Amino acid sequence: MKKTGHKHQKSIDANYKRCPECFTKLPLQATKCPSCNQKVQEVGKYGLAKKPVNWFGYLSAMGLWIALGLYVWWAFFK
Ligand SMILES: [Zn+2]
Repeated sequence: MKKTGHKHQKSIDANYKRCPECFTKLPLQATKCPSCNQKVQEVGKYGLAKKPVNWFGYLSAMGLWIALGLYVWWAFFK
């Protein structure tokens, strides 16, 4: 039985990655997308670049919840 030569490719292309925001092709060593200024990390799943974790947004959201909790506590136990 002869194989048809249809290779099952798992990795799409190893020569570039894509911006996770606007899907622009970027070189693998790029750290920032020139098209939308999104910071990018190493290539991840499906050839998309990984986004760095937004710690500032994460912490400010948490701070907002703590402030809300304190406000509720203050409003009820004054
Ligand atoms: Zn982009």
